[in-house]
Amino acid sequence: METVPEFFGSKVFDDRVMKARLSADVYNSLKKTIQEGSELDLSVANAVADAMCTWAVENGATHFTHWFQPLTGITAEKHDSFISPAPDGRVIMDFSGKELIKGEPDASSFPSGGLRATFEARGYTAWDPTSYAFIKDKTLCIPTAFCSYSGEALDKKTPLLRSMDAINRQALRVLKLFGNKDVKHVTTSVGPEQEYFLIDKEMFEKRRDLVYTGRTLFGAKPPKGQELDDHYFGTIKPRVQAYMNELNEELWKLGILAKTEHNEVAPSQHELAPIYTTTNRATDHNQLTMEVMQRVARKHGMVCLLHEKPFAGVNGSGKHNNWSIATDTGMNLLSPGETPHENTQFLLFLVAIIKAVDDYQDLLRLSVATAGNDHRLGANEAPPAIVSIFLGDELEAILEAIESDAPYAGTEKKRIRLGADVLPYFTRDTTDRNRTSPFAFTGNKFEFRMVGSSNSIACANIMLNTAVAEALCQMADELEKADDFDSCLQELIKRTIREHKRIVFNGNGYDDSWVKEAVEKRGLLNLRTTPEAMARLLDEKNIRVLTKHTVMSEAEIRSRYEIMMENYCKTDMIEARTMVRMAKKDILPAIDSYMKELADVITAKQSVSPELACGHESKKLKKLSALADLIDERSDALDAMASETEKVSDITCQGEKIWKDLLPDMAALRQVCDETETLVGRKYWPFPTYGDLLFSVK
Ligand code: ADP
Ligand code: MG
Repeated sequence: METVPEFFGSKVFDDRVMKARLSADVYNSLKKTIQEGSELDLSVANAVADAMCTWAVENGATHFTHWFQPLTGITAEKHDSFISPAPDGRVIMDFSGKELIKGEPDASSFPSGGLRATFEARGYTAWDPTSYAFIKDKTLCIPTAFCSYSGEALDKKTPLLRSMDAINRQALRVLKLFGNKDVKHVTTSVGPEQEYFLIDKEMFEKRRDLVYTGRTLFGAKPPKGQELDDHYFGTIKPRVQAYMNELNEELWKLGILAKTEHNEVAPSQHELAPIYTTTNRATDHNQLTMEVMQRVARKHGMVCLLHEKPFAGVNGSGKHNNWSIATDTGMNLLSPGETPHENTQFLLFLVAIIKAVDDYQDLLRLSVATAGNDHRLGANEAPPAIVSIFLGDELEAILEAIESDAPYAGTEKKRIRLGADVLPYFTRDTTDRNRTSPFAFTGNKFEFRMVGSSNSIACANIMLNTAVAEALCQMADELEKADDFDSCLQELIKRTIREHKRIVFNGNGYDDSWVKEAVEKRGLLNLRTTPEAMARLLDEKNIRVLTKHTVMSEAEIRSRYEIMMENYCKTDMIEARTMVRMAKKDILPAIDSYMKELADVITAKQSVSPELACGHESKKLKKLSALADLIDERSDALDAMASETEKVSDITCQGEKIWKDLLPDMAALRQVCDETETLVGRKYWPFPTYGDLLFSVK
């Protein structure tokens, strides 16, 4: 059997393959394009396409596709085979530079938010040479950007690449002022930790809610949930381990650096983390990871749920976006070094990020806003919907000292002794963990924890990169003009701390008192729902910053607003309709059957003695009868509300109506159904319960 280093990346047209298969000239000009973004000429593209095709065919591929990320949040592909007729009536396998560089997939049914009417059928895909091509099944997948006939981005990759350019430009200005002459390029890197649930496929298929919406819309709390914390980091069950093994292998073949795997807090919940890479590649890899996770699960008779809140009352799933900025010379700009208080370059980048997060709290919040994530953010778990930063004791003490002109005494680097001679002792990290913070400094990177498990990480990083680029830009503007760089720098750092320290919070983000303090004392935003958050995208200051750094045009911003809102509305409408259907077609008939059984028992008892007939059956029958009436009533009400909501044509108003009227009606129907579930005999309940689902995989 091949070892991991032998098969790692075997399905990727990576640097190793390029070096081996391209002439030195072609390889060098491609490399130049990848590293510096220089234009690629057609002869080079032809040579690359030729090598790609030969390599792909040798590795079993028959088709190629331009693989892109439309605004649906998932990936899209349209396959073309390599075949081309030969004069002798046979075929050859052929692929040209033109086909590599540009595609025209039509793809007119993808959301464009008004940027593109369906009659303007042209949409283009353009090769992104900074992310390697790979083989999936029998298809060579070429990562591409997707845009309209008039050049507007219709995807997530294009603005992401533009935001990486923006932060590169601004960070280079700042670095130059600090005398870093060798640095040519600055890149952001991301390591996204992906949470997911695994449940049995047979159970999954018995639940319409899971099939249609990816989450359970009904379900009483089981007697045992996550309270014992016995699942977190627990021994991995054999079936899950077999799944993880195959998943890792598939990901490694695709060149994805799958590294860490463990059980998460909730029963059936797990996590996978890769080693970090450049943001663009990390985003492509994360999209692929989600896809492979789902495919491999099916092979093992399971379903992988990526929804943010598949089960009410049980921890939801997120994605921790570990983010840092580094130079091409290998310097991590977020690394504090041994003496962070003297490291003014680090301090400047640190305060720039603090400023960025404070100034653009709303952009960060809305970058993760979806109907699914609304059930998680602020719902008494994971991070709250309020954006704040955790820095840890040492950095906070340093910033306090700077602000108050006090000398920094230093926090002692404590050594930890465990007391037994055989155990090693080690120095404590300068930052402790704070699991409740939405944006936490963790040693040499920031961890943005609000991203939902099913979200593409592109949006979060687009906003983060842009916000930080703007903060760096303002700082560079000021510093470039300074007569005395050092004193201007000191003053700038101090002022930034003073103006933006409200966003720094080291306490418990789950606490109710934090919401009060954040909103009332500090004036931070608490955008609880997607419509509230999305509305901020159209704020003048946000349009200004995105257009200033050419990350998105105003038309692109407005189209994205439409698409995100439409997605929110559709998701909730589908859920409402599914609930009504399940209540009427599954739940009520089940209660009726059980009531019939109870009535039969009562009649039988009555024939023995009227007294006997007054037992628990008749009490239960009365109770169930009343609950069933209530279910019927509430599902009618929800049905009517759904129809009323659908009639609201303005997407902003519809969104508002959904969270104000429709969601409460859904909650009311769920509440009575869940109560009923606990009273109805097990064999009558029409679908697997929470206990069945959460403990189904052995
Ligand atoms: P945890 O946060 O669970 O303790 P780690 O801190 O080791 O785990 O890493 C979590 C993720 O952060 C991994 O995907 C890792 O590759 C990524 N990571 C580590 N260093 C950086 C960095 N400098 N930039 C971006 N991501 C990083
Ligand atoms: Mg982490």
